[in-house]
Amino acid sequence: MIHRDEFGVQVHALLEADRFRDYGPNGLQVEGRPEIRKLVSGVTASLALIEAAARAGADAILVHHGLFWRGQDGRVTGWMKRRLQVLLAHEINLFAYHLPLDAHPQWGNNAQLGQKLKLSIDGRFGEQDLGFLGTPAQPLTVAALTALLQYRLGRAPVVVEGDGRPIRRVAWCTGGAQGYFEAAIAAGADAFLTGEISEPQAHYARETGVAYFACGHHATERFGAAALGAHLAERFGLEHQFIDIDNPA
Ligand SMILES: [Zn+2]
Repeated sequence: MIHRDEFGVQVHALLEADRFRDYGPNGLQVEGRPEIRKLVSGVTASLALIEAAARAGADAILVHHGLFWRGQDGRVTGWMKRRLQVLLAHEINLFAYHLPLDAHPQWGNNAQLGQKLKLSIDGRFGEQDLGFLGTPAQPLTVAALTALLQYRLGRAPVVVEGDGRPIRRVAWCTGGAQGYFEAAIAAGADAFLTGEISEPQAHYARETGVAYFACGHHATERFGAAALGAHLAERFGLEHQFIDIDNPA
């Protein structure tokens, strides 16, 4: 068991949350009961996750995508009202860590994805050093990396083949990091993996020869919250459950 405030202080320090310029507040977003015994982790603070956490008897939810983002108009109506209503009715604390959870060298989404793909991590790139660089045990073909991603993530990636060179150096950044592709190319990658693709990246891939793999925003960001939740549960003697709410995006 741990007090909510102590939990927040510890997680904030572990993730070095103050280092990041982010799109929303990191840390405690909605205050619940003071004591945490049961922690539920998940990717996004959706209504489905909040309701599942309430059914599971959670005292706190730990997510990558919280409720509050820059650009919202701040009104508590519609879906926002429903999500807050369930959280507040059950006195569940909501902790959200966005970029700090992508970046953490051990528990972060990028580190965890690299581990799942058996890439040895040897560098960082891109804005705020969120992108990771690594190498596979042996050079991969586009087909082999596609098959590995499908096996590890449970879904087929959208692939834009480059010039067919062997993939020795991989750059990746989970989620909606299509904007990191040019930095990945500049960093010398043979392939770039992220969650999503937008129209321009297909052309960059064809014109630079660097293969592009869009593997799913949710699919690439499923591992950080689960790994961090398990670690925190062990450290603070909590019960922990990762609840995956499937998302085709
Ligand atoms: Zn994301």
